[in-house]
Amino acid sequence: MSEVSFYSTTLEDFEKWWQGLGHALGPHKRLQRGLVNGLYPSVPSEHPEISRELLNEVATSFDFSLPNVFERRAASDGTIKYLFELKDGLKVESVALPFHKKFTLCLSSQAGCAMACEFCFTGTQGLKRHLEPHEIVGQYIQVWRDLNRNGDHPMTPNIVFMGQGEPLHNFEALKKAIEYLTSTPGLALGPRQITVSTVGYLPGLKRWEELPPVNLAISLHSPFEKERTKLIPMNRAYSIEKIMEVLNGYEWGRRKLINFEYLLLGGVNDSHEHAKALAKCIEPFPCLVNLIPFNPYPGSPFKRPSDQRVEEFKSWLVEEKVRTMVRVTKGDDILAACGQLANQFQ
Ligand code: SAH
Repeated sequence: MSEVSFYSTTLEDFEKWWQGLGHALGPHKRLQRGLVNGLYPSVPSEHPEISRELLNEVATSFDFSLPNVFERRAASDGTIKYLFELKDGLKVESVALPFHKKFTLCLSSQAGCAMACEFCFTGTQGLKRHLEPHEIVGQYIQVWRDLNRNGDHPMTPNIVFMGQGEPLHNFEALKKAIEYLTSTPGLALGPRQITVSTVGYLPGLKRWEELPPVNLAISLHSPFEKERTKLIPMNRAYSIEKIMEVLNGYEWGRRKLINFEYLLLGGVNDSHEHAKALAKCIEPFPCLVNLIPFNPYPGSPFKRPSDQRVEEFKSWLVEEKVRTMVRVTKGDDILAACGQLANQFQ
Protein backbone atom coordinates (compact mmCIF):
# COMPACT_ATOMS: atom_id res chain seq x y z
CA MET A 1 0.00 0.00 0.00
CA SER A 2 1.14 3.52 -0.72
CA GLU A 3 2.59 5.72 2.00
CA VAL A 4 1.30 8.93 0.42
CA SER A 5 -1.91 9.92 2.14
CA PHE A 6 -4.69 11.10 -0.11
CA TYR A 7 -5.81 13.34 2.76
CA SER A 8 -2.74 15.52 2.64
CA THR A 9 -2.36 15.56 -1.13
CA THR A 10 -3.43 19.02 -2.22
CA LEU A 11 -5.49 19.60 -5.34
CA GLU A 12 -2.38 20.98 -7.01
CA ASP A 13 -0.35 17.85 -6.24
CA PHE A 14 -3.20 15.57 -7.26
CA GLU A 15 -3.41 17.44 -10.56
CA LYS A 16 0.30 16.98 -11.16
CA TRP A 17 0.00 13.27 -10.44
CA TRP A 18 -3.08 12.94 -12.67
CA GLN A 19 -1.51 14.80 -15.57
CA GLY A 20 1.70 12.88 -15.07
CA LEU A 21 -0.22 9.78 -16.09
CA GLY A 22 -1.33 11.60 -19.23
CA HIS A 23 -4.94 12.27 -18.33
CA ALA A 24 -6.89 15.44 -18.96
CA LEU A 25 -7.95 17.44 -15.92
CA GLY A 26 -11.61 17.73 -14.97
CA PRO A 27 -13.00 14.57 -13.43
CA HIS A 28 -10.11 14.43 -10.92
CA LYS A 29 -11.67 17.33 -9.05
CA ARG A 30 -15.05 15.63 -8.74
CA LEU A 31 -13.39 12.43 -7.58
CA GLN A 32 -11.36 14.28 -4.96
CA ARG A 33 -14.40 16.21 -3.77
CA GLY A 34 -16.44 13.01 -3.41
CA LEU A 35 -13.70 11.26 -1.47
CA VAL A 36 -13.11 14.18 0.85
CA ASN A 37 -16.75 14.97 1.64
CA GLY A 38 -17.67 11.33 2.17
CA LEU A 39 -19.83 10.84 -0.92
CA TYR A 40 -17.47 7.97 -1.72
CA PRO A 41 -16.37 6.06 1.39
CA SER A 42 -13.50 4.68 -0.74
CA VAL A 43 -12.38 4.96 -4.37
CA PRO A 44 -15.40 3.77 -6.38
CA SER A 45 -14.91 0.84 -8.76
CA GLU A 46 -16.91 2.66 -11.42
CA HIS A 47 -17.26 6.29 -12.31
CA PRO A 48 -19.09 7.83 -15.28
CA GLU A 49 -16.07 9.91 -16.32
CA ILE A 50 -13.09 7.85 -15.18
CA SER A 51 -11.84 4.53 -16.52
CA ARG A 52 -11.55 1.49 -14.28
CA GLU A 53 -7.79 1.37 -14.81
CA LEU A 54 -7.38 4.93 -13.65
CA LEU A 55 -9.65 4.41 -10.63
CA ASN A 56 -7.54 1.42 -9.73
CA GLU A 57 -4.38 3.47 -10.16
CA VAL A 58 -5.76 6.09 -7.75
CA ALA A 59 -6.76 3.42 -5.24
CA THR A 60 -3.31 1.84 -5.19
CA SER A 61 -1.22 5.03 -5.39
CA PHE A 62 -2.53 6.69 -2.25
CA ASP A 63 -3.24 5.72 1.32
CA PHE A 64 -6.87 6.41 2.19
CA SER A 65 -6.80 5.46 5.83
CA LEU A 66 -8.26 7.93 8.32
CA PRO A 67 -7.94 8.05 12.11
CA ASN A 68 -10.27 5.41 13.46
CA VAL A 69 -13.17 6.59 15.65
CA PHE A 70 -12.39 4.51 18.72
CA GLU A 71 -15.04 6.06 20.90
CA ARG A 72 -17.65 8.78 20.62
CA ARG A 73 -19.24 10.49 23.60
CA ALA A 74 -22.08 13.00 23.58
CA ALA A 75 -22.53 15.42 26.47
CA SER A 76 -25.89 16.68 27.72
CA ASP A 77 -25.31 20.07 26.04
CA GLY A 78 -24.77 18.54 22.57
CA THR A 79 -20.96 18.57 22.68
CA ILE A 80 -19.45 15.45 21.12
CA LYS A 81 -16.01 14.14 22.00
CA TYR A 82 -14.24 11.73 19.68
CA LEU A 83 -11.38 9.50 20.66
CA PHE A 84 -9.35 8.57 17.60
CA GLU A 85 -6.93 5.74 17.27
CA LEU A 86 -3.98 6.37 14.96
CA LYS A 87 -2.14 3.80 12.90
CA ASP A 88 0.45 3.15 15.59
CA GLY A 89 -2.21 2.74 18.27
CA LEU A 90 -1.74 6.20 19.82
CA LYS A 91 -4.90 8.07 20.60
CA VAL A 92 -5.95 11.69 20.22
CA GLU A 93 -9.16 13.54 20.84
CA SER A 94 -11.30 16.01 18.91
CA VAL A 95 -14.38 17.81 20.14
CA ALA A 96 -17.39 19.15 18.22
CA LEU A 97 -19.02 22.06 20.03
CA PRO A 98 -22.48 23.22 18.90
CA PHE A 99 -23.16 26.94 18.76
CA HIS A 100 -26.65 27.59 17.35
CA LYS A 101 -26.59 25.90 13.95
CA LYS A 102 -22.86 25.88 13.55
CA PHE A 103 -20.29 23.61 15.07
CA THR A 104 -16.82 24.51 16.19
CA LEU A 105 -14.43 21.62 15.82
CA CYS A 106 -11.56 21.51 18.24
CA LEU A 107 -8.68 19.54 16.70
CA SER A 108 -5.47 18.10 18.12
CA SER A 109 -2.08 18.80 16.59
CA GLN A 110 0.03 16.42 18.68
CA ALA A 111 -0.44 13.24 20.67
CA GLY A 112 0.21 14.60 24.15
CA CYS A 113 2.09 17.88 24.54
CA ALA A 114 5.60 18.94 25.49
CA MET A 115 4.67 22.26 27.12
CA ALA A 116 3.79 20.83 30.55
CA CYS A 117 1.56 23.72 31.56
CA GLU A 118 0.76 23.52 35.24
CA PHE A 119 -3.04 23.67 34.79
CA CYS A 120 -3.52 21.43 31.74
CA PHE A 121 -4.55 17.78 31.78
CA THR A 122 -2.96 17.07 28.40
CA GLY A 123 0.31 18.51 29.70
CA THR A 124 0.53 15.79 32.34
CA GLN A 125 1.08 13.23 29.58
CA GLY A 126 4.18 14.65 27.95
CA LEU A 127 4.66 14.60 24.19
CA LYS A 128 4.15 11.26 22.50
CA ARG A 129 4.63 12.47 18.96
CA HIS A 130 3.73 15.11 16.41
CA LEU A 131 0.72 14.36 14.23
CA GLU A 132 1.14 14.03 10.48
CA PRO A 133 -0.79 16.48 8.27
CA HIS A 134 -3.26 13.77 7.22
CA GLU A 135 -3.91 12.86 10.85
CA ILE A 136 -4.90 16.46 11.53
CA VAL A 137 -7.04 16.70 8.38
CA GLY A 138 -8.37 13.19 9.10
CA GLN A 139 -9.89 14.28 12.43
CA TYR A 140 -11.76 16.99 10.57
CA ILE A 141 -13.00 14.67 7.85
CA GLN A 142 -14.17 12.02 10.29
CA VAL A 143 -15.95 14.46 12.59
CA TRP A 144 -17.58 16.24 9.68
CA ARG A 145 -18.78 12.96 8.18
CA ASP A 146 -20.21 11.98 11.53
CA LEU A 147 -22.04 15.29 11.95
CA ASN A 148 -23.52 14.85 8.49
CA ARG A 149 -24.42 11.22 8.85
CA ASN A 150 -28.16 11.80 9.27
CA GLY A 151 -28.20 14.06 6.26
CA ASP A 152 -28.44 17.03 8.63
CA HIS A 153 -26.11 19.26 6.60
CA PRO A 154 -25.10 21.70 9.31
CA MET A 155 -23.22 24.81 8.18
CA THR A 156 -19.49 24.35 7.57
CA PRO A 157 -17.88 24.46 10.97
CA ASN A 158 -15.19 26.63 12.44
CA ILE A 159 -11.96 24.97 13.41
CA VAL A 160 -9.92 25.74 16.48
CA PHE A 161 -6.55 24.17 17.18
CA MET A 162 -7.27 23.94 20.88
CA GLY A 163 -7.23 20.18 21.28
CA GLN A 164 -4.20 18.27 22.43
CA GLY A 165 -0.80 19.68 21.61
CA GLU A 166 0.96 22.93 20.88
CA PRO A 167 0.23 23.56 17.19
CA LEU A 168 3.19 25.85 16.55
CA HIS A 169 5.51 23.17 17.92
CA ASN A 170 4.42 21.05 14.95
CA PHE A 171 4.63 23.87 12.45
CA GLU A 172 5.30 22.03 9.18
CA ALA A 173 2.43 19.59 9.65
CA LEU A 174 0.10 22.34 10.84
CA LYS A 175 0.95 24.43 7.80
CA LYS A 176 0.32 21.55 5.41
CA ALA A 177 -2.93 20.64 7.11
CA ILE A 178 -4.21 24.22 7.00
CA GLU A 179 -3.20 24.57 3.36
CA TYR A 180 -5.06 21.37 2.59
CA LEU A 181 -8.17 22.36 4.56
CA THR A 182 -8.40 25.75 2.87
CA SER A 183 -7.69 24.66 -0.71
CA THR A 184 -9.36 21.29 -1.26
CA PRO A 185 -12.63 20.99 -3.16
CA GLY A 186 -15.33 19.54 -0.93
CA LEU A 187 -14.06 21.25 2.19
CA ALA A 188 -14.60 24.91 1.31
CA LEU A 189 -13.13 26.28 4.49
CA GLY A 190 -11.98 29.87 4.61
CA PRO A 191 -8.83 30.73 6.60
CA ARG A 192 -10.94 33.04 8.76
CA GLN A 193 -12.88 29.99 9.96
CA ILE A 194 -9.70 28.61 11.48
CA THR A 195 -8.04 29.68 14.72
CA VAL A 196 -4.64 28.52 15.88
CA SER A 197 -4.16 28.72 19.62
CA THR A 198 -0.61 28.86 20.94
CA VAL A 199 1.23 29.23 24.14
CA GLY A 200 3.55 31.56 22.20
CA TYR A 201 6.02 28.96 20.98
CA LEU A 202 8.48 31.39 19.46
CA PRO A 203 10.13 29.38 16.67
CA GLY A 204 6.63 28.82 15.24
CA LEU A 205 5.32 32.29 16.00
CA LYS A 206 8.21 33.77 14.05
CA ARG A 207 6.95 31.86 11.01
CA TRP A 208 3.31 32.93 11.53
CA GLU A 209 3.04 34.71 8.20
CA GLU A 210 3.89 31.52 6.29
CA LEU A 211 0.42 30.26 7.20
CA PRO A 212 -2.73 31.18 5.28
CA PRO A 213 -4.39 34.16 7.04
CA VAL A 214 -5.97 32.20 9.91
CA ASN A 215 -6.82 33.72 13.30
CA LEU A 216 -4.28 33.79 16.08
CA ALA A 217 -5.05 33.10 19.72
CA ILE A 218 -2.31 33.53 22.32
CA SER A 219 -2.66 31.80 25.67
CA LEU A 220 -1.37 34.50 27.99
CA HIS A 221 -2.83 33.56 31.39
CA SER A 222 -0.75 36.06 33.32
CA PRO A 223 0.67 39.52 32.60
CA PHE A 224 3.60 38.87 34.96
CA GLU A 225 6.68 37.04 33.69
CA LYS A 226 7.44 35.21 36.93
CA GLU A 227 3.93 34.00 37.43
CA ARG A 228 3.54 33.02 33.78
CA THR A 229 6.73 30.98 33.99
CA LYS A 230 5.25 29.11 36.93
CA LEU A 231 2.08 28.36 35.00
CA ILE A 232 3.69 27.87 31.58
CA PRO A 233 7.30 26.69 32.00
CA MET A 234 8.06 27.53 28.39
CA ASN A 235 7.80 31.20 29.33
CA ARG A 236 11.34 30.95 30.69
CA ALA A 237 12.69 30.68 27.15
CA TYR A 238 9.91 32.47 25.27
CA SER A 239 8.83 35.25 27.61
CA ILE A 240 5.85 37.61 27.35
CA GLU A 241 8.26 40.33 26.32
CA LYS A 242 9.66 38.26 23.45
CA ILE A 243 6.21 37.16 22.30
CA MET A 244 5.02 40.78 22.22
CA GLU A 245 8.11 41.76 20.28
CA VAL A 246 7.35 39.19 17.59
CA LEU A 247 3.66 40.17 17.48
CA ASN A 248 4.73 43.77 17.09
CA GLY A 249 6.44 42.89 13.84
CA TYR A 250 3.15 41.82 12.23
CA GLU A 251 0.26 43.88 11.01
CA TRP A 252 -2.99 43.75 12.96
CA GLY A 253 -6.13 45.72 12.37
CA ARG A 254 -9.81 46.06 13.00
CA ARG A 255 -10.57 42.98 10.92
CA LYS A 256 -7.51 41.13 12.09
CA LEU A 257 -7.56 40.98 15.83
CA ILE A 258 -5.37 38.96 18.13
CA ASN A 259 -7.31 36.78 20.57
CA PHE A 260 -5.63 36.73 23.93
CA GLU A 261 -6.80 33.82 26.02
CA TYR A 262 -6.76 34.30 29.74
CA LEU A 263 -7.33 31.32 31.92
CA LEU A 264 -8.91 32.36 35.22
CA LEU A 265 -7.54 30.39 38.14
CA GLY A 266 -9.39 31.09 41.38
CA GLY A 267 -7.25 33.05 43.82
CA VAL A 268 -4.19 32.91 41.55
CA ASN A 269 -4.51 35.31 38.62
CA ASP A 270 -7.99 36.77 39.02
CA SER A 271 -7.27 39.97 41.01
CA HIS A 272 -7.94 43.57 40.04
CA GLU A 273 -4.19 44.09 39.83
CA HIS A 274 -3.98 41.28 37.28
CA ALA A 275 -6.75 42.80 35.17
CA LYS A 276 -5.02 46.20 35.11
CA ALA A 277 -1.62 44.73 34.24
CA LEU A 278 -3.19 42.52 31.57
CA ALA A 279 -4.85 45.53 29.93
CA LYS A 280 -1.52 47.36 29.90
CA CYS A 281 0.37 44.39 28.51
CA ILE A 282 -1.91 43.99 25.46
CA GLU A 283 -2.55 47.68 24.93
CA PRO A 284 -0.52 47.97 21.70
CA PHE A 285 -2.69 45.45 19.84
CA PRO A 286 -6.16 45.41 18.33
CA CYS A 287 -7.42 42.46 20.30
CA LEU A 288 -10.08 40.57 22.11
CA VAL A 289 -9.61 38.87 25.46
CA ASN A 290 -11.22 35.49 25.93
CA LEU A 291 -11.65 34.69 29.59
CA ILE A 292 -11.61 30.96 30.26
CA PRO A 293 -12.71 29.94 33.74
CA PHE A 294 -10.59 26.97 34.81
CA ASN A 295 -12.09 23.56 34.07
CA PRO A 296 -11.12 21.13 36.79
CA TYR A 297 -10.06 17.55 36.05
CA PRO A 298 -9.24 14.60 38.29
CA GLY A 299 -6.47 15.67 40.66
CA SER A 300 -6.14 19.21 39.31
CA PRO A 301 -4.32 21.60 41.64
CA PHE A 302 -6.38 24.72 40.83
CA LYS A 303 -9.93 25.85 41.37
CA ARG A 304 -12.43 27.62 39.21
CA PRO A 305 -13.26 31.18 40.32
CA SER A 306 -16.88 31.96 41.20
CA ASP A 307 -19.13 33.23 38.40
CA GLN A 308 -19.29 36.50 40.28
CA ARG A 309 -15.50 36.85 40.20
CA VAL A 310 -15.42 36.04 36.49
CA GLU A 311 -17.94 38.84 35.85
CA GLU A 312 -15.96 41.18 38.09
CA PHE A 313 -12.73 40.43 36.23
CA LYS A 314 -14.49 41.07 32.96
CA SER A 315 -15.81 44.43 34.20
CA TRP A 316 -12.28 45.45 35.29
CA LEU A 317 -11.08 44.83 31.77
CA VAL A 318 -14.03 46.66 30.25
CA GLU A 319 -13.16 49.64 32.48
CA GLU A 320 -9.75 49.59 30.81
CA LYS A 321 -11.49 49.55 27.39
CA VAL A 322 -10.53 45.99 26.60
CA ARG A 323 -12.96 43.96 24.48
CA THR A 324 -13.69 40.88 26.50
CA MET A 325 -15.68 37.67 26.21
CA VAL A 326 -16.17 34.88 28.69
CA ARG A 327 -15.83 31.46 27.11
CA VAL A 328 -18.83 29.33 27.87
CA THR A 329 -17.83 25.96 29.19
CA LYS A 330 -19.13 23.09 27.12
CA GLY A 331 -18.86 19.38 27.44
CA ASP A 332 -17.41 19.40 30.95
CA ASP A 333 -19.57 16.46 32.01
CA ILE A 334 -17.57 14.28 29.60
CA LEU A 335 -14.19 16.00 30.18
CA ALA A 336 -14.34 17.62 26.76
CA ALA A 337 -13.80 21.21 27.89
CA CYS A 338 -10.57 23.18 27.39
CA GLY A 339 -7.64 21.50 29.02
CA GLN A 340 -9.50 18.33 29.92
CA LEU A 341 -8.37 16.19 27.00
CA ALA A 342 -6.10 13.40 28.07
CA ASN A 343 -7.48 10.30 26.43
CA GLN A 344 -9.23 9.17 29.56
CA PHE A 345 -12.60 8.07 28.40
CA GLN A 346 -14.31 7.16 31.60
N1 SAH B 1 -1.27 24.61 23.11
C1 SAH B 1 -2.32 25.53 22.73
C2 SAH B 1 -3.70 24.86 22.70
C3 SAH B 1 -4.10 24.37 24.06
S1 SAH B 1 -5.74 24.23 24.58
C4 SAH B 1 -2.33 26.70 23.66
O1 SAH B 1 -1.69 26.64 24.69
O2 SAH B 1 -2.96 27.71 23.34
C5 SAH B 1 -6.55 25.72 24.40
C6 SAH B 1 -6.70 26.58 25.66
O3 SAH B 1 -7.19 25.87 26.81
C7 SAH B 1 -5.38 27.19 26.08
O4 SAH B 1 -5.55 28.56 26.29
C8 SAH B 1 -5.10 26.47 27.36
O5 SAH B 1 -4.25 27.19 28.20
C9 SAH B 1 -6.47 26.30 27.94
N2 SAH B 1 -6.54 25.33 29.03
C10 SAH B 1 -5.68 24.35 29.35
N3 SAH B 1 -6.08 23.67 30.44
C11 SAH B 1 -7.23 24.24 30.83
C12 SAH B 1 -8.15 23.96 31.87
N4 SAH B 1 -7.96 22.96 32.72
N5 SAH B 1 -9.25 24.73 31.97
C13 SAH B 1 -9.48 25.73 31.08
N6 SAH B 1 -8.65 26.01 30.06
C14 SAH B 1 -7.55 25.28 29.94
